[in-house]
Amino acid sequence: MFGVYIHIPFCRKVCDYCDFRVMPSQSKLFGEFTDLLCKQIVCFGRLHPGLLSSAETLYLGGGTPSELPPEFLRQIFDCLRSVGVEPSKLKEVSMEFNPESTNEATVQNALDLGVKRISLGLQSFDPGILRTVGRSHSVEMGLSALRLLTSVPHLQVNGDLMFDLPGQSVQGFLDDVDRLSDFPLNHVSFYGLNVSPRSRLGHKVSAGCLTVNEDLYESMYMGGVEILEKKGLMRYEVSNFARPGFESVHNQNYWNRGEYAGFGPGAHSYLGKMRYYAPEIYPRWREYVKADCPKTQLSLDELDREAAIMEFLWLSLRQSKGISTEELQKMGISLDKSVCDRWISKGFLKHENMSNLLQRKSCFRLEGRGWIFMDDIVTDLANSYSNLE
Ligand code: SF4
Repeated sequence: MFGVYIHIPFCRKVCDYCDFRVMPSQSKLFGEFTDLLCKQIVCFGRLHPGLLSSAETLYLGGGTPSELPPEFLRQIFDCLRSVGVEPSKLKEVSMEFNPESTNEATVQNALDLGVKRISLGLQSFDPGILRTVGRSHSVEMGLSALRLLTSVPHLQVNGDLMFDLPGQSVQGFLDDVDRLSDFPLNHVSFYGLNVSPRSRLGHKVSAGCLTVNEDLYESMYMGGVEILEKKGLMRYEVSNFARPGFESVHNQNYWNRGEYAGFGPGAHSYLGKMRYYAPEIYPRWREYVKADCPKTQLSLDELDREAAIMEFLWLSLRQSKGISTEELQKMGISLDKSVCDRWISKGFLKHENMSNLLQRKSCFRLEGRGWIFMDDIVTDLANSYSNLE
């Protein structure tokens, strides 16, 4: 499968924990950014004739795509159409919103453009926590955005939360999960805070002004999963939960190592076994696009066999469907039985047989606390596999 990703690098204000290449919204840059983005898309289309029209999903992320005024979003969609990406024919068209830019006009514009799935960044319903992590919306803005989005017929809505935030209690996070999943959503994501040393929050943590209690991680994660699954939102990836049939097609393509092209500063692409990305810093990206997107300015990441196997194990195990033995065979490897048995005996891994009369199939999936120890399990599996003859 092939997907298209558009990176919009603007946010109302940069959150204290943010580690992405984003910048505060500057209306004077919107026009220039949109023209450059369209030029980058057209350059790619010329270099890869016919590829963009084979796209099955489109995802606008960032940053905050809902910060970009309607006329610029319309220009991007017109450009995509001109190179063969027709939103009405795609399996999924997703766009990220933040509460401060969610209103009837921005939502209607997205719907008119063909957006079918909106992901709303809420992170918490606790006013103190929102302040601590420097979000630019209030609890009331989050709730009113949720009410608006979930009232739109047929719109798929995802709500995003974070946990293990400074000052957050286990009960506080579980109350957030409960409150969010009481809305008629078909998708929820939650992510543990990753403190980046280069973020404002990272500096506060290193200076001892804020603390993150990592001991609460497991109780928050496991408790959150239990609440969502009781309400029919089933885990299909370590941080993603959906009602059956509402899993994100675009994101599953990433985890299944499918191909995609990314546009915008620093957006990643994966084509022909090569991962690459354009300059991340806006002025450098501007120069790159103005120079007609020369390949020499791309950062390339060609995976050797070992790195590709590690990536395959990691991306497979983080999904509920796990590592299929069929896929292992295609990769030309088999897992070490004693290592698998050790994790299975702890109840962290499960070997499930799905064979039928026609074919022999099985998979290794994470179980119970295995979701917490995922990195250790993957490292162990990656250090002990053997090559098939
Ligand atoms: S909204 Fe997201 S991308 Fe924007 S600053 Fe906050 S964390 Fe970063």
